[in-house]
Parts: sequence; C-alpha cells; structure tokens
Amino acid sequence: MSRVPLHEPVFAGNEWRYLKECLDTGWVSSAGAFVDRFERETAERMGCRRAVAVTTGTAALHLALEAAGVGAGDEVLVPSLTFIATANAPLYLGAKPRFVDCEDASLGMDPSTLAEWFERETELLPGGGRRTKDTGRRIAACVPMHVFGLPCRIDELAALCARNGIALVEDAAESLGSFWKGRAAGSFGIAGCLSFNGNKTLTTGGGGMVVTDSDAVADRVRHLSTQSKKNAATYLHDELGWNYRMPNLNAALGCAQLEQLDAFLARKRAIAERYRAGLAGVRGLSLLWEAEGGRSNFWLNAVRAETPERAAALLSRLNAAGVEARPVWTPGHLQPHLGTLATGSLSRAENAWKTVVNLPSGAGLTDAQVDRTLEVLRA
Ligand SMILES: *Cc1c(COP(=O)(O)O)cnc(C)c1O
Repeated sequence: MSRVPLHEPVFAGNEWRYLKECLDTGWVSSAGAFVDRFERETAERMGCRRAVAVTTGTAALHLALEAAGVGAGDEVLVPSLTFIATANAPLYLGAKPRFVDCEDASLGMDPSTLAEWFERETELLPGGGRRTKDTGRRIAACVPMHVFGLPCRIDELAALCARNGIALVEDAAESLGSFWKGRAAGSFGIAGCLSFNGNKTLTTGGGGMVVTDSDAVADRVRHLSTQSKKNAATYLHDELGWNYRMPNLNAALGCAQLEQLDAFLARKRAIAERYRAGLAGVRGLSLLWEAEGGRSNFWLNAVRAETPERAAALLSRLNAAGVEARPVWTPGHLQPHLGTLATGSLSRAENAWKTVVNLPSGAGLTDAQVDRTLEVLRA
C-alpha cells in the first residue's frame, strides 16, 4: 500500500504556464512582474495595505522584528511551543527570546499568563514599554504564532501589547487563510510574517512575506532585503543589509498557487471534518479544533492523546502503517542554544509536546487516505 504523506504540495493550476513565462522572458531573478503581483494579491487577501516578498518565512521574521525596533540587548516574547525560526529571529538581532506558555485549546500563546507576568515581573519604562525585573532588559516585541493554522486569541494579545507599549509581530507562517473574529491571522500586529515553504498551505518552493499596514515597516523591510541599496547606479549601500528578495520564479509559483487557495482551504476543511466525524466517540483521543470566533485553515490536523505513552505508541503505529504522522516541535526552552528565559511555567507547552501528534493534512489527500489514517487511529 502506498504511504499517506503528511503534507505534499498540489500543483493543479497555472504553475507551468507562469514558470514558462519567466523562462521565455528571462525574468527569473529578484525582480519581475510576478513578484509585484504576488505581493499585491497576498496583501489583498490578508486585508493589509502592503506586502514585501522575501526568500523564506525565517527572513520575514528577521526583518519584521528589525523593522519593529528590536535591537541588541532587548528581549522578545515568543511561544515556547513553536518552530525554531520564531525564537531564532530575535537572536539574529542580538536580542534574547523569552518564552511564554501556551493554552491547551489552541496551543497558542496564553494572554492571561502574559498579563499576569507583566504585572508581577516587569515595570513600565519611563518612555513607554516594559522592562523585566530579573534581567533589567527592555521587552521590545511579542511574536504570537497560530499553531497548525488554529488562530490564537490574537485580539487579546494585541490589546495587551498595545496597552504596554510592546510591538506585536505575528508569526503567521502556518496560518494563511485562517481568521480570528473575521480578520486574517497575521493582520493584527505591526507586521505579519508568512511562509511559502514546500510543506505550507501554499508554496513557492521556498519563500516568505511580511504583510503590514505601515509604509514605514514595508519600506524598511524592502530596503534591508535588497542589501540596503541606496543608489543602484553608484552601488551605494547606506547600512548593513541582506539579500532576502524573492525571485520572480518563486513568485510565479506563488501567483498560480494563490489562484487555488480557496480550493485548498475548502479541501483542507473537508479533510478536517472527516477526521472529526471519524474520531467522534473514540475515547482518549481528541482532535484539536478552531475556537469559537476562529476559523482555521487546518494546515495540519492534530490529535491529543491522554498520555505521552499513548502518543508515542500512536506515532509508531501510524508510521509503521505508512501513515506519515509527526510529533510536535521540541519546545524552545529545551533547545540548547536558545536559553531558558521564561514568563513562568512552561508545563502546558511541554505537555503538548509529549501528547500531540500531527496527522496527514495536505489538500491533495483522498478520502480513502484519510480513512486509512482513521482506521489506524481507531485500532
Ligand atoms: C514554516 C515556519 C517558519 C519558517 O518558514 P521558512 O519559510 O521555512 O523559513 C516560521 N515559523 C513557523 C511557525 C513555521 O511553521
């Protein structure tokens, strides 16, 4: 029997046509009509005024944090339960990640944990913003992430950050097509960061984007991503920059994929519903689901087992049966290079790490493949 993949891309639209157009015209590199179009159309879908396409989601996080004012000696609030890139981004800028626990339902950053910690362990800075009592460092930004596409309580986090003078940057790498109370996940902060890696809902091969309503942020990200080029004719660069611009070839794929986004989202929701129906009444396993007010893109479905032992058994049985299931990321505070600064207990993140298992979820899955996964889960 063939394997059931975790998440494979679907190329069922204009991908070949747009790629051929790049080759025929010679516009393959980091300028071209597809880059402009991909930025414009993605910004529109996100309900944001501006977008800057870059080479990866990681690069988007790096530059968005820079544009948000994060610098050497600062601290940045990040979830402990996230992919490594969220917590690496502050380090690129000489800042330190400080980990926040998740809530059990959405696995996203818990607003009440954060609010209590602000009160207890930080003090207001004279010029606005907050400083931690333990390290004395400024908290420059907060980077919530919408785990597996499930929207977190981003409006509460945004209000909390606004009240405390802390820049909100969203890691929306997994949540293109997700909404919270009618607004796109990734459109709540000063900037949102998207990823178009091969395993994401929509792919450009490799790619990322910063979306924002702020001209200052968009212009800054564009400048830094093009080697801080001030004058093309004289090769004058006015500060340290990066070569992070997305090539036209990748943007051509992106434009073709974006045309299919609604179809991908509909199929992914149908897959999630099929898992939900198939797991109803199965004891000891619960499928993570969007909260009231949230609409998930269902990037990766996930089940929570009652114990770490059951989760481990589930993982090995699924994979032995050719069903690609995956554990959740090792939490940030347990990664050796990231440090262990925290806002208190991280036990819910650790518990999710040990008990949650991701299930095959790509838009190209057939009903039969979902049913096979369900069979192994029910056994
Ligand atoms: C995929 C992902 C990224 C990084 O994206 P790349 O394009 O692979 O650099 C960042 N954060 C999260 C949460 C992700 O899932």
